[in-house]
Amino acid sequence: MTKPVIRLHNSKTRRKEDFAPIDDQNVRLYLCGPTVYDRAHLGNARPVVVIDVLYRLLRHVYGADHVTYVRNFTDVDDKINAAAQARKEAGAIETLEELIRQRTEETIGWYHADMDALGALRPTHEPRATDFIGAMISMIEDLIAKGHAYAKEGHVLFRVRSYKDYGALSGRSVDDMIAGARVEVAPFKEDPMDFVLWKPSADDLPGWESPWGRGRPGWHIECSAMSYELLGASFDIHAGGIDLQFPHHENEIAQSCCAHPEGGFANVWLHNEMLQVEGKKMSKSLGNFFTVRDLLDQGIPGEVIRFVFLQTHYGKPMDWTAEKARQAEATLRKWRALVADVEAAPSVAPEVIAALSDDLNTAGAIAALHQMTDPALLKASAALLGLLEDGLGDWASAPEADLSDLAAKLADLRATAMETKDFAPVDALKTALLAAGVEVRMSKAGVELLPGAGFDAAKLEGL
Ligand SMILES: [Zn+2]
Repeated sequence: MTKPVIRLHNSKTRRKEDFAPIDDQNVRLYLCGPTVYDRAHLGNARPVVVIDVLYRLLRHVYGADHVTYVRNFTDVDDKINAAAQARKEAGAIETLEELIRQRTEETIGWYHADMDALGALRPTHEPRATDFIGAMISMIEDLIAKGHAYAKEGHVLFRVRSYKDYGALSGRSVDDMIAGARVEVAPFKEDPMDFVLWKPSADDLPGWESPWGRGRPGWHIECSAMSYELLGASFDIHAGGIDLQFPHHENEIAQSCCAHPEGGFANVWLHNEMLQVEGKKMSKSLGNFFTVRDLLDQGIPGEVIRFVFLQTHYGKPMDWTAEKARQAEATLRKWRALVADVEAAPSVAPEVIAALSDDLNTAGAIAALHQMTDPALLKASAALLGLLEDGLGDWASAPEADLSDLAAKLADLRATAMETKDFAPVDALKTALLAAGVEVRMSKAGVELLPGAGFDAAKLEGL
Protein backbone atom coordinates (compact mmCIF):
# COMPACT_ATOMS: atom_id res chain seq x y z
CA MET A 1 0.00 0.00 0.00
CA THR A 2 1.43 3.37 -0.90
CA LYS A 3 1.51 5.89 1.88
CA PRO A 4 -0.60 9.02 1.42
CA VAL A 5 1.52 12.13 0.89
CA ILE A 6 1.16 14.51 3.82
CA ARG A 7 1.56 18.17 2.90
CA LEU A 8 2.38 20.72 5.60
CA HIS A 9 2.83 24.47 5.57
CA ASN A 10 6.45 24.94 6.62
CA SER A 11 7.01 28.29 8.34
CA LYS A 12 10.70 28.02 7.46
CA THR A 13 10.10 28.06 3.69
CA ARG A 14 6.70 29.81 3.88
CA ARG A 15 5.06 27.27 1.61
CA LYS A 16 3.17 24.02 1.65
CA GLU A 17 5.51 21.09 1.06
CA ASP A 18 5.32 17.33 0.71
CA PHE A 19 6.42 15.86 4.00
CA ALA A 20 9.29 13.36 3.74
CA PRO A 21 10.60 12.10 7.06
CA ILE A 22 14.35 11.74 7.61
CA ASP A 23 13.72 8.15 8.73
CA ASP A 24 10.30 6.71 8.03
CA GLN A 25 10.92 4.10 10.75
CA ASN A 26 11.20 6.90 13.31
CA VAL A 27 9.32 10.09 12.49
CA ARG A 28 10.29 12.72 15.07
CA LEU A 29 8.14 15.54 16.37
CA TYR A 30 8.74 18.21 19.04
CA LEU A 31 6.24 20.59 20.63
CA CYS A 32 7.20 23.32 23.12
CA GLY A 33 5.41 22.40 26.32
CA PRO A 34 4.09 24.41 29.26
CA THR A 35 5.84 26.24 32.06
CA VAL A 36 4.26 24.49 35.01
CA TYR A 37 3.17 27.20 37.43
CA ASP A 38 -0.61 27.32 36.83
CA ARG A 39 -3.57 25.75 35.02
CA ALA A 40 -3.40 25.70 31.21
CA HIS A 41 -5.62 28.37 29.68
CA LEU A 42 -7.70 27.69 26.61
CA GLY A 43 -5.08 29.17 24.26
CA ASN A 44 -2.42 26.83 25.66
CA ALA A 45 -4.57 23.86 24.68
CA ARG A 46 -4.84 24.73 21.00
CA PRO A 47 -1.35 23.55 19.91
CA VAL A 48 -1.79 20.41 22.01
CA VAL A 49 -5.01 19.46 20.19
CA VAL A 50 -3.66 20.42 16.76
CA ILE A 51 -0.44 18.45 17.23
CA ASP A 52 -2.40 15.54 18.65
CA VAL A 53 -4.19 15.27 15.30
CA LEU A 54 -0.85 15.45 13.47
CA TYR A 55 0.52 12.76 15.81
CA ARG A 56 -2.49 10.53 15.09
CA LEU A 57 -2.13 11.08 11.35
CA LEU A 58 1.62 10.28 11.41
CA ARG A 59 0.95 7.14 13.47
CA HIS A 60 -1.73 6.13 11.01
CA VAL A 61 0.54 6.61 8.02
CA TYR A 62 3.90 5.44 9.41
CA GLY A 63 2.74 3.03 12.13
CA ALA A 64 2.10 3.70 15.81
CA ASP A 65 5.57 2.44 16.79
CA HIS A 66 7.35 4.61 14.24
CA VAL A 67 6.60 8.08 15.54
CA THR A 68 8.40 9.77 18.46
CA TYR A 69 6.64 12.76 19.95
CA VAL A 70 8.39 14.92 22.57
CA ARG A 71 6.71 17.66 24.59
CA ASN A 72 8.66 19.20 27.45
CA PHE A 73 7.78 20.58 30.86
CA THR A 74 9.55 23.79 31.86
CA ASP A 75 9.83 23.25 35.59
CA VAL A 76 12.35 25.96 36.42
CA ASP A 77 11.08 29.51 36.00
CA ASP A 78 10.56 32.78 37.87
CA LYS A 79 6.77 32.32 37.77
CA ILE A 80 7.05 28.94 39.52
CA ASN A 81 9.29 30.50 42.16
CA ALA A 82 6.82 33.35 42.60
CA ALA A 83 3.90 30.94 43.04
CA ALA A 84 5.85 29.03 45.71
CA GLN A 85 6.94 32.27 47.37
CA ALA A 86 3.30 33.36 47.59
CA ARG A 87 2.43 30.15 49.43
CA LYS A 88 5.35 30.66 51.78
CA GLU A 89 4.13 34.17 52.54
CA ALA A 90 0.62 32.80 53.09
CA GLY A 91 2.06 30.79 55.96
CA ALA A 92 3.09 27.45 54.44
CA ILE A 93 5.56 25.69 56.77
CA GLU A 94 7.49 23.85 54.04
CA THR A 95 10.80 25.14 52.69
CA LEU A 96 10.70 27.17 49.49
CA GLU A 97 12.38 24.28 47.68
CA GLU A 98 9.65 21.88 48.81
CA LEU A 99 6.94 24.35 47.84
CA ILE A 100 8.46 24.75 44.37
CA ARG A 101 8.53 20.99 43.89
CA GLN A 102 4.94 20.68 45.12
CA ARG A 103 3.81 23.41 42.75
CA THR A 104 5.42 21.80 39.69
CA GLU A 105 4.15 18.31 40.60
CA GLU A 106 0.65 19.61 41.17
CA THR A 107 0.64 21.61 37.93
CA ILE A 108 1.91 18.66 35.88
CA GLY A 109 -0.93 16.59 37.37
CA TRP A 110 -3.47 19.25 36.38
CA TYR A 111 -1.99 19.50 32.91
CA HIS A 112 -2.26 15.77 32.35
CA ALA A 113 -5.83 15.66 33.61
CA ASP A 114 -6.89 18.59 31.42
CA MET A 115 -5.18 17.40 28.22
CA ASP A 116 -6.47 13.86 28.82
CA ALA A 117 -9.97 15.33 29.04
CA LEU A 118 -9.42 16.92 25.62
CA GLY A 119 -8.60 13.48 24.24
CA ALA A 120 -4.94 14.32 23.57
CA LEU A 121 -2.68 11.28 23.53
CA ARG A 122 0.29 11.44 25.87
CA PRO A 123 3.55 12.12 23.98
CA THR A 124 6.24 9.44 23.79
CA HIS A 125 8.50 11.52 26.05
CA GLU A 126 7.66 14.37 28.42
CA PRO A 127 11.08 15.53 29.61
CA ARG A 128 11.33 17.90 32.54
CA ALA A 129 13.94 20.62 32.18
CA THR A 130 15.38 19.94 35.64
CA ASP A 131 16.25 16.38 34.56
CA PHE A 132 18.40 17.71 31.70
CA ILE A 133 20.52 20.40 33.40
CA GLY A 134 23.71 18.41 32.68
CA ALA A 135 22.92 18.27 28.97
CA MET A 136 22.23 22.03 28.96
CA ILE A 137 25.55 22.80 30.68
CA SER A 138 27.45 20.66 28.12
CA MET A 139 25.69 22.38 25.25
CA ILE A 140 26.51 25.82 26.68
CA GLU A 141 30.17 24.83 27.17
CA ASP A 142 30.26 23.67 23.55
CA LEU A 143 28.75 26.97 22.35
CA ILE A 144 31.41 28.91 24.29
CA ALA A 145 34.19 26.71 22.85
CA LYS A 146 32.90 27.39 19.33
CA GLY A 147 32.80 31.15 19.87
CA HIS A 148 28.99 31.43 19.82
CA ALA A 149 28.61 32.27 23.50
CA TYR A 150 30.50 34.05 26.28
CA ALA A 151 30.44 34.08 30.07
CA LYS A 152 30.31 37.31 32.02
CA GLU A 153 29.40 38.07 35.65
CA GLY A 154 27.91 34.64 36.28
CA HIS A 155 25.82 34.84 33.10
CA VAL A 156 26.38 33.09 29.80
CA LEU A 157 25.05 34.88 26.72
CA PHE A 158 24.51 33.68 23.19
CA ARG A 159 26.35 35.89 20.69
CA VAL A 160 23.54 36.47 18.20
CA ARG A 161 25.72 38.11 15.54
CA SER A 162 27.90 34.98 15.40
CA TYR A 163 25.04 33.14 13.68
CA LYS A 164 24.48 34.60 10.23
CA ASP A 165 21.07 33.00 9.69
CA TYR A 166 19.56 34.48 12.84
CA GLY A 167 16.06 35.74 12.07
CA ALA A 168 15.54 33.58 8.96
CA LEU A 169 12.52 31.76 10.43
CA SER A 170 10.55 34.90 11.16
CA GLY A 171 12.04 36.75 8.19
CA ARG A 172 13.61 39.63 10.03
CA SER A 173 17.10 41.04 10.15
CA VAL A 174 18.89 41.45 13.46
CA ASP A 175 18.86 45.22 13.05
CA ASP A 176 15.09 45.27 12.45
CA MET A 177 14.63 43.14 15.52
CA ILE A 178 16.68 45.50 17.65
CA ALA A 179 14.58 48.40 16.39
CA GLY A 180 11.28 46.60 17.00
CA ALA A 181 11.83 44.40 20.01
CA ARG A 182 12.06 45.26 23.65
CA VAL A 183 15.57 43.96 24.05
CA GLU A 184 17.07 44.12 27.46
CA VAL A 185 20.26 46.14 27.71
CA ALA A 186 22.51 44.83 30.46
CA PRO A 187 26.09 45.55 31.43
CA PHE A 188 27.09 41.91 30.92
CA LYS A 189 25.90 41.89 27.29
CA GLU A 190 28.24 42.54 24.35
CA ASP A 191 25.20 43.33 22.18
CA PRO A 192 21.61 44.08 23.24
CA MET A 193 20.32 41.19 21.05
CA ASP A 194 22.37 38.58 22.90
CA PHE A 195 20.19 36.31 25.00
CA VAL A 196 20.71 34.38 28.21
CA LEU A 197 21.82 30.74 28.22
CA TRP A 198 22.65 30.65 31.91
CA LYS A 199 22.08 33.03 34.79
CA PRO A 200 22.94 33.15 38.49
CA SER A 201 20.40 31.95 41.05
CA ALA A 202 19.74 33.50 44.45
CA ASP A 203 20.74 31.21 47.34
CA ASP A 204 17.15 30.38 48.33
CA LEU A 205 16.03 29.59 44.77
CA PRO A 206 16.65 26.48 42.64
CA GLY A 207 20.16 26.44 41.25
CA TRP A 208 22.81 24.05 39.96
CA GLU A 209 26.58 24.12 40.15
CA SER A 210 28.16 25.05 36.83
CA PRO A 211 31.50 26.32 35.47
CA TRP A 212 29.98 29.83 35.79
CA GLY A 213 28.87 29.46 39.40
CA ARG A 214 25.58 28.36 40.93
CA GLY A 215 22.74 29.20 38.57
CA ARG A 216 20.05 27.99 36.25
CA PRO A 217 19.42 27.72 32.54
CA GLY A 218 17.62 30.24 30.34
CA TRP A 219 14.34 29.06 28.85
CA HIS A 220 15.46 28.74 25.21
CA ILE A 221 18.36 26.35 25.87
CA GLU A 222 15.97 23.84 27.49
CA CYS A 223 14.22 22.97 24.22
CA SER A 224 17.51 22.81 22.28
CA ALA A 225 19.12 20.45 24.81
CA MET A 226 16.09 18.20 25.32
CA SER A 227 15.26 17.88 21.62
CA TYR A 228 18.90 16.99 20.92
CA GLU A 229 18.98 14.36 23.67
CA LEU A 230 15.71 12.73 22.64
CA LEU A 231 15.44 13.36 18.89
CA GLY A 232 18.99 14.08 17.69
CA ALA A 233 20.68 16.92 15.79
CA SER A 234 18.14 16.70 12.95
CA PHE A 235 14.51 15.82 13.28
CA ASP A 236 11.33 16.21 11.28
CA ILE A 237 8.81 18.63 12.75
CA HIS A 238 8.99 21.32 15.41
CA ALA A 239 5.66 22.84 16.41
CA GLY A 240 4.41 25.63 18.64
CA GLY A 241 2.24 28.71 18.78
CA ILE A 242 3.03 31.58 16.42
CA ASP A 243 3.70 33.72 19.50
CA LEU A 244 6.81 31.57 20.13
CA GLN A 245 8.29 32.06 16.66
CA PHE A 246 10.29 35.06 17.80
CA PRO A 247 12.35 35.05 19.88
CA HIS A 248 11.97 31.55 21.33
CA HIS A 249 12.15 29.50 18.14
CA GLU A 250 14.77 31.75 16.52
CA ASN A 251 16.88 31.25 19.63
CA GLU A 252 16.36 27.48 19.62
CA ILE A 253 17.53 27.34 16.00
CA ALA A 254 20.59 29.52 16.69
CA GLN A 255 21.66 27.42 19.68
CA SER A 256 21.04 24.05 18.05
CA CYS A 257 22.54 24.83 14.65
CA CYS A 258 25.65 26.40 16.20
CA ALA A 259 26.19 23.59 18.72
CA HIS A 260 25.46 20.85 16.16
CA PRO A 261 26.36 22.21 12.72
CA GLU A 262 26.29 18.62 11.42
CA GLY A 263 22.51 18.61 11.86
CA GLY A 264 19.81 20.89 10.54
CA PHE A 265 17.63 20.96 13.69
CA ALA A 266 13.96 20.84 12.56
CA ASN A 267 13.13 20.35 8.87
CA VAL A 268 9.55 21.56 9.16
CA TRP A 269 8.27 24.33 11.44
CA LEU A 270 4.57 24.28 12.16
CA HIS A 271 2.99 27.30 13.84
CA ASN A 272 -0.57 27.55 15.02
CA GLU A 273 -2.37 30.89 15.17
CA MET A 274 -3.81 32.35 18.34
CA LEU A 275 -7.16 31.89 20.05
CA GLN A 276 -9.81 34.51 20.76
CA VAL A 277 -12.99 34.40 22.82
CA GLU A 278 -16.23 35.80 21.36
CA GLY A 279 -14.18 37.86 18.90
CA LYS A 280 -11.84 39.37 21.47
CA LYS A 281 -8.33 38.59 22.59
CA MET A 282 -8.51 36.52 25.76
CA SER A 283 -7.26 38.60 28.66
CA LYS A 284 -7.70 38.81 32.39
CA SER A 285 -8.57 42.50 32.16
CA LEU A 286 -11.44 41.82 29.72
CA GLY A 287 -12.84 39.16 32.02
CA ASN A 288 -12.89 36.58 29.21
CA PHE A 289 -9.85 34.67 30.39
CA PHE A 290 -10.45 31.06 31.28
CA THR A 291 -8.65 27.82 31.76
CA VAL A 292 -9.51 24.45 30.25
CA ARG A 293 -10.58 23.40 33.74
CA ASP A 294 -13.00 26.35 34.00
CA LEU A 295 -14.83 25.09 30.91
CA LEU A 296 -14.80 21.47 32.05
CA ASP A 297 -16.18 22.56 35.42
CA GLN A 298 -18.96 24.47 33.65
CA GLY A 299 -20.03 21.13 32.24
CA ILE A 300 -18.60 21.56 28.74
CA PRO A 301 -17.18 18.15 27.81
CA GLY A 302 -13.54 18.02 26.70
CA GLU A 303 -14.64 16.38 23.47
CA VAL A 304 -16.81 19.42 22.69
CA ILE A 305 -13.87 21.77 23.29
CA ARG A 306 -11.76 19.61 20.98
CA PHE A 307 -14.42 19.63 18.27
CA VAL A 308 -14.72 23.42 18.38
CA PHE A 309 -10.93 23.76 18.06
CA LEU A 310 -10.78 21.43 15.08
CA GLN A 311 -13.45 23.31 13.14
CA THR A 312 -10.89 26.05 12.45
CA HIS A 313 -7.67 25.45 10.53
CA TYR A 314 -4.64 25.69 12.81
CA GLY A 315 -3.11 28.39 10.62
CA LYS A 316 -6.02 30.77 11.19
CA PRO A 317 -6.98 32.62 14.36
CA MET A 318 -9.72 30.68 16.09
CA ASP A 319 -12.65 32.19 17.89
CA TRP A 320 -14.13 30.34 20.85
CA THR A 321 -17.85 31.06 21.24
CA ALA A 322 -20.56 29.58 23.44
CA GLU A 323 -22.71 29.12 20.34
CA LYS A 324 -20.04 27.00 18.64
CA ALA A 325 -19.80 24.87 21.78
CA ARG A 326 -23.55 24.35 21.75
CA GLN A 327 -23.58 23.30 18.11
CA ALA A 328 -20.57 21.03 18.60
CA GLU A 329 -22.32 19.34 21.50
CA ALA A 330 -25.46 18.75 19.42
CA THR A 331 -23.42 17.23 16.56
CA LEU A 332 -21.43 14.99 18.88
CA ARG A 333 -24.59 13.81 20.64
CA LYS A 334 -26.09 12.88 17.29
CA TRP A 335 -22.95 11.05 16.17
CA ARG A 336 -22.47 9.32 19.51
CA ALA A 337 -26.03 7.99 19.35
CA LEU A 338 -25.30 6.73 15.82
CA VAL A 339 -22.11 4.86 16.74
CA ALA A 340 -23.28 3.52 20.11
CA ASP A 341 -22.43 -0.21 20.35
CA VAL A 342 -20.90 -0.11 16.87
CA GLU A 343 -17.44 -1.56 16.19
CA ALA A 344 -15.18 0.81 14.28
CA ALA A 345 -14.57 -0.18 10.66
CA PRO A 346 -11.09 -1.56 9.94
CA SER A 347 -10.19 1.38 7.73
CA VAL A 348 -10.63 5.13 7.67
CA ALA A 349 -12.57 6.96 4.96
CA PRO A 350 -10.14 8.12 2.23
CA GLU A 351 -11.67 11.60 2.14
CA VAL A 352 -10.80 12.11 5.83
CA ILE A 353 -7.19 11.03 5.23
CA ALA A 354 -7.05 13.27 2.17
CA ALA A 355 -8.30 16.29 4.13
CA LEU A 356 -5.92 15.78 7.05
CA SER A 357 -3.00 15.12 4.69
CA ASP A 358 -3.67 18.51 3.11
CA ASP A 359 -1.95 20.57 5.81
CA LEU A 360 -4.23 19.23 8.57
CA ASN A 361 -7.48 20.44 7.06
CA THR A 362 -9.46 19.41 10.12
CA ALA A 363 -12.52 21.43 9.06
CA GLY A 364 -12.57 19.51 5.77
CA ALA A 365 -12.27 16.23 7.65
CA ILE A 366 -15.22 17.19 9.87
CA ALA A 367 -17.23 18.12 6.77
CA ALA A 368 -16.51 14.64 5.42
CA LEU A 369 -17.70 13.07 8.69
CA HIS A 370 -20.99 14.97 8.32
CA GLN A 371 -21.56 13.20 4.97
CA MET A 372 -21.09 9.69 6.37
CA THR A 373 -24.03 7.35 6.78
CA ASP A 374 -22.16 4.18 7.78
CA PRO A 375 -21.70 4.30 11.59
CA ALA A 376 -18.72 1.91 11.57
CA LEU A 377 -16.88 4.07 9.05
CA LEU A 378 -17.85 7.23 10.94
CA LYS A 379 -16.43 5.82 14.15
CA ALA A 380 -13.16 4.71 12.55
CA SER A 381 -12.72 7.99 10.68
CA ALA A 382 -13.59 10.24 13.64
CA ALA A 383 -10.92 8.43 15.69
CA LEU A 384 -8.24 9.96 13.45
CA LEU A 385 -9.44 13.32 14.78
CA GLY A 386 -9.59 11.95 18.33
CA LEU A 387 -13.40 12.11 18.30
CA LEU A 388 -16.08 9.52 19.17
CA GLU A 389 -13.54 7.38 20.97
CA ASP A 390 -14.63 5.00 23.69
CA GLY A 391 -13.78 6.35 27.12
CA LEU A 392 -14.36 10.01 26.29
CA GLY A 393 -18.07 9.75 25.65
CA ASP A 394 -19.58 9.30 29.11
CA TRP A 395 -20.99 12.81 28.93
CA ALA A 396 -23.11 11.88 25.92
CA SER A 397 -24.53 8.68 27.38
CA ALA A 398 -26.58 10.65 29.90
CA PRO A 399 -29.93 11.11 28.18
CA GLU A 400 -30.55 14.63 26.99
CA ALA A 401 -33.16 16.11 29.25
CA ASP A 402 -36.63 16.43 27.79
CA LEU A 403 -37.47 20.01 28.60
CA SER A 404 -40.69 20.17 26.55
CA ASP A 405 -43.02 19.73 29.57
CA LEU A 406 -41.26 22.53 31.43
CA ALA A 407 -41.38 24.75 28.35
CA ALA A 408 -45.13 24.15 28.09
CA LYS A 409 -45.57 24.88 31.79
CA LEU A 410 -43.65 28.14 31.51
CA ALA A 411 -45.72 29.15 28.45
CA ASP A 412 -48.94 28.46 30.42
CA LEU A 413 -47.74 30.46 33.40
CA ARG A 414 -46.87 33.34 31.12
CA ALA A 415 -50.29 33.25 29.45
CA THR A 416 -51.95 33.37 32.87
CA ALA A 417 -49.66 36.17 34.04
CA MET A 418 -50.62 38.27 31.02
CA GLU A 419 -54.14 38.32 32.40
CA THR A 420 -53.51 38.50 36.14
CA LYS A 421 -50.48 40.85 35.77
CA ASP A 422 -48.80 38.73 38.44
CA PHE A 423 -45.49 37.61 36.96
CA ALA A 424 -44.06 36.19 40.17
CA PRO A 425 -44.79 32.52 39.26
CA VAL A 426 -43.13 33.04 35.85
CA ASP A 427 -40.05 34.60 37.41
CA ALA A 428 -39.81 31.87 40.04
CA LEU A 429 -39.76 29.12 37.42
CA LYS A 430 -37.29 31.03 35.26
CA THR A 431 -34.96 31.46 38.22
CA ALA A 432 -35.14 27.74 39.04
CA LEU A 433 -34.41 26.82 35.41
CA LEU A 434 -31.42 29.15 35.26
CA ALA A 435 -30.11 27.65 38.49
CA ALA A 436 -30.25 24.22 36.83
CA GLY A 437 -28.15 25.51 33.93
CA VAL A 438 -31.04 25.87 31.50
CA GLU A 439 -31.04 28.79 29.10
CA VAL A 440 -34.51 30.33 28.80
CA ARG A 441 -35.52 32.01 25.53
CA MET A 442 -38.96 33.64 25.57
CA SER A 443 -40.43 35.35 22.57
CA LYS A 444 -43.82 36.00 21.02
CA ALA A 445 -43.43 32.72 19.16
CA GLY A 446 -43.15 30.74 22.36
CA VAL A 447 -40.80 29.45 24.98
CA GLU A 448 -37.56 27.64 24.20
CA LEU A 449 -35.45 25.89 26.84
CA LEU A 450 -31.86 24.88 26.10
CA PRO A 451 -29.52 22.98 28.38
CA GLY A 452 -26.48 25.25 28.73
CA ALA A 453 -23.11 25.18 30.44
CA GLY A 454 -23.34 23.45 33.81
CA PHE A 455 -26.74 21.91 33.07
CA ASP A 456 -27.85 19.71 35.97
CA ALA A 457 -30.97 17.59 35.34
CA ALA A 458 -31.21 16.70 39.03
CA LYS A 459 -32.09 20.32 39.81
CA LEU A 460 -35.18 20.08 37.61
CA GLU A 461 -36.88 17.59 39.86
CA GLY A 462 -39.97 18.99 41.55
CA LEU A 463 -40.36 21.88 39.11
ZN1 LIG B 1 10.64 25.49 22.82
